[in-house]
Amino acid sequence: MLTRAHAFALTGLDATPVEVEVYTADEPKNACFTIVGLPDKALQEARSRIRSAAFAAGLNTTESLMLVNLAPAEVRKEGAGFDLPIALAVLAGHHQVDERLVDEVAAVGELAFDGRLRPVPGILSIAEAAVRAGRPVLVCPSACAAEAALVPGCRPLGCVSLQHAVRVLKGEQQPEQVDRGATALDEPIPDLADVRGQPSARRALEVCAAGGHNLLLVGPPGVGKTMLAKRLPGILPPLDDEAALLATRIHSAAGVLSPGAGLLRVPPFRAPHHSATTPALVGGGTRIRPGEVTLATGGVLFLDELPEFRRDALEALRVPIEDGHVRISRASGSVQLPARFNLIAAMNPCPCGGGGSSGCTCARERVIAYQRKASGPLLDRIDVGVRLERPAPEVLRVDRPESTATVRDRVFAARERQAARGCINGQIPVDLLDHHAPLDDACTRLVDEAERRLALSPRGLHRIQRVARTIADLAGSDAIAPPHVAEAIAVRLGAIA
Ligand SMILES: [Zn+2]
Repeated sequence: MLTRAHAFALTGLDATPVEVEVYTADEPKNACFTIVGLPDKALQEARSRIRSAAFAAGLNTTESLMLVNLAPAEVRKEGAGFDLPIALAVLAGHHQVDERLVDEVAAVGELAFDGRLRPVPGILSIAEAAVRAGRPVLVCPSACAAEAALVPGCRPLGCVSLQHAVRVLKGEQQPEQVDRGATALDEPIPDLADVRGQPSARRALEVCAAGGHNLLLVGPPGVGKTMLAKRLPGILPPLDDEAALLATRIHSAAGVLSPGAGLLRVPPFRAPHHSATTPALVGGGTRIRPGEVTLATGGVLFLDELPEFRRDALEALRVPIEDGHVRISRASGSVQLPARFNLIAAMNPCPCGGGGSSGCTCARERVIAYQRKASGPLLDRIDVGVRLERPAPEVLRVDRPESTATVRDRVFAARERQAARGCINGQIPVDLLDHHAPLDDACTRLVDEAERRLALSPRGLHRIQRVARTIADLAGSDAIAPPHVAEAIAVRLGAIA
């Protein structure tokens, strides 16, 4: 007999419906279990898991002929999430459960040999696709139910095993309770009040948060670069509903969302190690998985020890930094993923970290090579740069800097001014720069002089104009005044000096 179940294929952040058709016949002489329709290796291995899980549920399939077709055939099917829908259709084919009950619902989940259900990535995207496809009831692992419940209209049936799923479909047993009150297990963000004796670095962080600009921190080890970077999410606006859903979908698709976590509301903070590969940073691999640039969307991408990153990885970051998205190409086609983040890069002044001071032993050529390695691909994309020095002990004793809450109020006010114009300053398109950030004669003279003195590229000039707009917004000023431009030039210098 022919039975049907409904599954989903995840590509990047999007799930597409896949119809699972299973032809079952009691033919001991021709017993087999075949899956066709572009399955990957993990899916081919589903056969062992499904047979074993069905056996645990009381069904021996070794004497059956079973042909599984996954349609549409041209969509690539990846991962173990197809285990449950195929197994349900197989059980229906053996009259263990009414085929109509299976046909009515959507299903996703990986099976263990003993029939237990394991969570799979991308549940949020799958639940959205299920609702869109008109099958809002989603049979899924209990660990995934809370995530599916975040999608309006989705009714997840969280199950612990294949047997449990069958009983739930038959109405003989209740699904697991969904803990809808769950909130994201966000670590508390440390407070800016801890960062003492670094007024210019704090100011740079505030400007970058307010306008969505990229920041470079240069300073010896232990001076507080990481400390500053970790405090940026605290002064960024929290994610609104749309952004929260997107961030949660991204983390889910990457398989890094903790089970039971609710919507991510706090801007993400991603700090990949400098040994990270290009696919780990920008996404890709054999399965299309979001990379760090996508995971950082709405939040912060922190690249500590920038010159230590692989050259090809830094090159690959240029497009996402410029365009706010990344395109991953594979034989089966290409997928565009969002990659809109605040970049903070950090580096030591020289390879030994001493930065020319008494303890430094670096030859001058080595220092130049070290700085060039980082600056080549990325420096033109940095808006604000600041050099950090170790503050004197007496400064540390008396400095009582502002808290995150105080700085955040100014950042939010500046963001509101930008929202009224319809564009974050860091993303103002070049052709709208003079509309959103007009410069009067005095300001233009300052910019022209900086261009001559510093041999700035057009891109560098645009960055100064955008940052000046942000500095004016932080000051509550509609017009950009010469002091705003002067500060924007000064912080730009910090990036290229
Ligand atoms: Zn050195």
